Amino acid sequence: MPERDVIVVGAGFTGLSAALELVDAGLDVLLLEARDRVGGKVESETLSDGTRVDTGGQFFCRDMAELMALIARNGKTPVMTHYDGEMIYRPAVPPQQGFARWQGVDALRDRMIATAPDDPDLAKLTAADWVARQDDVPGDIRKSFLRLIKGLWCRAPEEIAFTWLASNDRRITNTYSEMEMFLPDTLHALADQLAARFGDRLRLGTAVTGIEHSETGATVIVGDERLPAKRLILALPPVMIRRLPFSPALPGQFQKALSAWAPGLSIKLQASYDRPFWRERGLSGAVMWHEPQGLYACDASRGDYAGLIIFVGGPEAQQWHERPREELTAFIREQLTEAFGPEGGNPRDIHVRDWVNDPWSGGAYSDVVIDLDARYAEDIINEGIPPIHFASSELSPSYPGYVEGAIVAGRLAAGRVIGALANSRSKIGGE
Ligand SMILES: Cc1cc2nc3c(=O)[nH]c(=O)nc-3n(C[C@H](O)[C@H](O)[C@H](O)COP(=O)(O)OP(=O)(O)OC[C@H]3O[C@@H](n4cnc5c(N)ncnc54)[C@H](O)[C@@H]3O)c2cc1C
Repeated sequence: MPERDVIVVGAGFTGLSAALELVDAGLDVLLLEARDRVGGKVESETLSDGTRVDTGGQFFCRDMAELMALIARNGKTPVMTHYDGEMIYRPAVPPQQGFARWQGVDALRDRMIATAPDDPDLAKLTAADWVARQDDVPGDIRKSFLRLIKGLWCRAPEEIAFTWLASNDRRITNTYSEMEMFLPDTLHALADQLAARFGDRLRLGTAVTGIEHSETGATVIVGDERLPAKRLILALPPVMIRRLPFSPALPGQFQKALSAWAPGLSIKLQASYDRPFWRERGLSGAVMWHEPQGLYACDASRGDYAGLIIFVGGPEAQQWHERPREELTAFIREQLTEAFGPEGGNPRDIHVRDWVNDPWSGGAYSDVVIDLDARYAEDIINEGIPPIHFASSELSPSYPGYVEGAIVAGRLAAGRVIGALANSRSKIGGE
């Protein structure tokens, strides 16, 4: 079997970006993907009315430079998310009061970002511990902040490591809403377009079942097949990397760094209507639920399609994951009725994508660090164990947990591999 320059495992945006960079550098690359499609946590489905919708990652904003450039280079034009009009707060509060509360939440978020990364006093705190210490902040703002953590990072604030959360949020630097825009023909269609460049260098339906490695190369095991390469990029979220058997086993410190993470818990629903009736009433379509917790809705209509997206995040998503689907859709109809009246509770269709315990992603939107003793988990994984390199959106220096972060992480890993291969070639040349 000829030894390739590089094998990339995982064709989410991290793996696609890494592999494209390597192909552009003229290397012999093979991209392996377990599912029968590319995109990973960016995926799409076609609704019964024929509309293709993103059931995973979807939104972005102009601050996300790499994704914006990729979209432009691939000839795609985003549409703006509809935000004109009033937001609904549940339970209902006057809009001004709701707005003031969210300004307070933003200020608390700024305070979190401003904490000193190496402050030993913060090292063993969970996010909830830190919020409890901010006792000069009104209780309803602290509660809303906890709700935001749950909704964005999709785990209970009582288990998320505070220093990791602050570090993660420091790298999410957008000034425009991260949900500013989306692609009308889906972000997943962009992943498909990128994949088309690989031809037979991309193998779908190819789950890697083990990795053998030495200082000089790695062998990827796929069932009975053995695929050797000089370098390997595992473009997988941390919770998926730790499912793979490595021979020899990864060093203890590395295993600890991998086990520090837990998958996010989230469900994404799409309620379709005949028209965006909320706009006629001066509403934006966005709903911020204080109670029940972990819920958020926004308008995702475009062209002649009208729809609301509803996110369920955190422990509530885990609870719904364990209950029959009809109970979840009945609950969502109830919540939409309370927010918008009977028309809201009567969509023509509700599509559910449950990401909890997803077989190939582990969860969503991203993995989060829950081990309070694993402060340097990211640095350790990012260093890799040459010839094996690790990359995923979670490990990105900018926009971790977002598609933008995946692109950056993938390209950085590719850069490390290109540098290492050039180095070994020049050593051989110099001998
Ligand atoms: C519901 C939802 C909503 C989101 N919303 C947004 C949003 O609006 N904006 C945004 O920017 N981000 C959003 N995200 C997050 C974003 O989608 C992810 O951060 C990003 O796509 C992660 O990319 P990745 O390549 O690092 O990981 P993944 O996309 O998880 O890619 C990993 C790939 O590896 C494959 N794989 C796993 N194990 C193996 C194996 N053993 N062998 C071979 N292949 C394997 C998987 O099938 C997968 O394709 C959302 C995610 C979800 C799920």
